[in-house]
Amino acid sequence: MQQVYFDNAATTAMLPEVIEHLTKSMSEIYGNPSSTHSLGRKTKNSIELARRSTANHFGAKPSEIIFTSGATEANNMVINHAINILGVKRIITSKTEHKAVLETVEASKGVKVEYVTLTKKGDIDYQALETLLASESTKTLVSLMLVNNEIGSILDAKRVGDLCKTHAAIFHTDSVQHIGHEPIIFEDLGIHFATCSAHKFHGPKGIGFLYANIKYGMSSLVFGGGQEKGFRPGTENIIGVQGLTKALEICYNNLEKDKKHIASIKSAMANQLEEAFGNQIIFNSSLENGAYNILNVGFSKEIANNMLLFSLDMNGIAASSGSACSSGSLQGSHVLEAVDPELEKNYICIRFSFSKLNTLEEVDYCVKKLKEILLK
Ligand code: PLP
Repeated sequence: MQQVYFDNAATTAMLPEVIEHLTKSMSEIYGNPSSTHSLGRKTKNSIELARRSTANHFGAKPSEIIFTSGATEANNMVINHAINILGVKRIITSKTEHKAVLETVEASKGVKVEYVTLTKKGDIDYQALETLLASESTKTLVSLMLVNNEIGSILDAKRVGDLCKTHAAIFHTDSVQHIGHEPIIFEDLGIHFATCSAHKFHGPKGIGFLYANIKYGMSSLVFGGGQEKGFRPGTENIIGVQGLTKALEICYNNLEKDKKHIASIKSAMANQLEEAFGNQIIFNSSLENGAYNILNVGFSKEIANNMLLFSLDMNGIAASSGSACSSGSLQGSHVLEAVDPELEKNYICIRFSFSKLNTLEEVDYCVKKLKEILLK
């Protein structure tokens, strides 16, 4: 059976070049970076070179990059640091954030949490954000993601950065779905903290980084060693760091070509779905202004039921009903619920997310199977 992987916002397959680089690194760089002998120093050096290379993509200083196990840990670190070290007393975020931010914020004690209003399309209402920021002079952290992982809406980060500057707020962004997909210079946008995960751009799982602007510093969630300047104790994930760096380098070297290809897949999928299902579907992602790799489609319950994702899987097609982290739960998508509480009453919503490894033939296959499943 043909296998089609349209769940690239959940995770991506590692590129063969990354695997090759990892395999080589595993046999060559194995010393403990904290050891003082030459093998240890060689490993330490490989991490520092990786840090410099990573920082260069984002106009950051190497000391502003902290390697972590991924974005969940990094988001936790930022929120913890903001509250316990920087003295933040209020957090402004949105109901469409990833659970790695939402649940961390909700679990935090001694802070007031406010959720900014969203537009009908799931974008931030910037006027409402400004009103919230202006309403209090309390020390505030604004935590808003750059690209939404379920519907692909894109934050106007410069606008948020400017608002934060005007109102002396700290700006954190979960940039997981943006990094490796678009270029970004954090400082130009007024971003103080950003988080990243390598498995979203064909790197390994279990490795990411945190950008922490030098003026705001960082602190550790755990204790027990001086690694990553003490901000992230524990022996470093040397191989992960190598894989992240290699995957980033490949993404940014091929960005324009890959973007064009992925955007053509998204638009072919949208066109073919519209042709096949007409007004029985709706798009929960913007076709013009959303992320070029994410297409969230609502199939009317007149033709679809809860088994749709399973039926696709039976036909070799991997897609998703939302964030992979919450897809085991029986609840619907918290993102779609926040954008339109009525939506999932009438539609079965599926997120198709694409990568450069996908082809137009896979779109043809997927739409053909959808027609067989839904129009029988
Ligand atoms: N933030 C967003 C927007 C994501 O899509 C994900 C991945 O599912 C995460 C955070 C969590 O990242 P990680 O798997 O590196 O912990």
